[in-house]
Amino acid sequence: MNVADSDALRNALAGRGCETAAAPDEADLIVVNTCSVREHAEVRARGRIAELAAIKARRPGCRLWVVGCMAARMGERLKQDIPGIDEAVPAEELADPERVVRERLDLKETNGAAGPVRGISEFVPVMRGCDNYCAYCVVPYVRGRERSVAAEEIIREIRSRAGNGMREVTLLGQNVNSYRDGGLDFPDLLKLVAAINGMERVRFTTSHPKDCTEKLVITMAESPKICRHIHLPVQSGSDRILGLMNRNYTAGRYRSLIAMIRDHLPDADITTDILVGFPSETESEFQETMHLVRDARFTTAFMFAYSVREGTAAARLPDDVPREEKIDRLNRLIALQTEITRGQYADMVGRELEMMVYGPVEKRNGTFLRGQDRGCRRMLLACSGIPAGTILPVRAVRSSGMTLIAERV
Ligand code: SAH
Ligand code: SF4
Repeated sequence: MNVADSDALRNALAGRGCETAAAPDEADLIVVNTCSVREHAEVRARGRIAELAAIKARRPGCRLWVVGCMAARMGERLKQDIPGIDEAVPAEELADPERVVRERLDLKETNGAAGPVRGISEFVPVMRGCDNYCAYCVVPYVRGRERSVAAEEIIREIRSRAGNGMREVTLLGQNVNSYRDGGLDFPDLLKLVAAINGMERVRFTTSHPKDCTEKLVITMAESPKICRHIHLPVQSGSDRILGLMNRNYTAGRYRSLIAMIRDHLPDADITTDILVGFPSETESEFQETMHLVRDARFTTAFMFAYSVREGTAAARLPDDVPREEKIDRLNRLIALQTEITRGQYADMVGRELEMMVYGPVEKRNGTFLRGQDRGCRRMLLACSGIPAGTILPVRAVRSSGMTLIAERV
């Protein structure tokens, strides 16, 4: 979501004649987009903003904007803490980037539009905000109420980008499965997007398990253009903790969802988010998470230690899992998932896959094409001269970390 917001803001600036500077100390405007989902993200952003404020102070006329969730959560406080911030633009306002630029920059004297920067694979938000109020999560407070973008607007946007070379789109929302536009639901939207001329691949994220339906999975199975990847954050394997988290599903229901997905899409990548050390989580409840992870065989997972977010429901509970214990659980979980991920990648070796080419990349041992299969796996192919956006049949010959090395078939 942040990448999508940053791209949209950059394109709105480009549309008003701005060009991307090579480095912060050559810029007239520095924009920092921020995330508030974990304390760690905010601490890092603060450090970065302070560094950039020092660069800005040496450049007369240079302006510094902090945009996104931290601006929503603590914009004024940040301005006081770090002198030099000219504007704090809350995440919700980024839905209309042209307006952000129009209202905050006087760009009358520009020498024409630089035009938007467009890529082969891009993000398109289909909904903004969130209404789920998971107990630990700050998103509903910083990104506002859930609202779906009109299907017509989404289709128009994707058509226009397809005309500019986009071949793969990732539809974004905190819970895409609750997308609604009148009688149209998310699987209906997926079908419409997959039918757009020029679109070769359609991806989406995130699927909240409570709203993930068989209709979605059948729609995926029926359309070869919809990628074989579902990001389905489980958060915990313990029913008591899932209840406290306000996730509205049980571990049993999650397991049956996985079985249903594997039934329709045996080759699909299922990935997840897991949070350890939620208030009052016991060792045996953590073991239930480990158990679920062992059974689910996720391709990859994002794993986090719980951190208190001011204003959330969980902030009222004692943060009683000691820090060392959280880190220890996180490390054990990461070790388990890393082993599973390694196996999942090794399993692909020898298989024929379809690689979408994203572009060339220079490595120590030569020039490669980077790309992705129809699931969530990044690939490298020793080859050059093939345009980005091409889909090539390849064979995985080796796996290196979380990348598959491929050769042409
Ligand atoms: N909408 C997505 C999640 C977006 S936030 C969903 O419902 O799945 C991305 C991930 O950050 C979450 O899945 C969760 O695992 C993690 N996260 C959110 N709040 C957190 C907190 N307070 N501490 C640690 N991790 C958190
Ligand atoms: Fe946060 Fe839950 Fe909304 Fe995801 S669904 S953004 S975890 S409140």
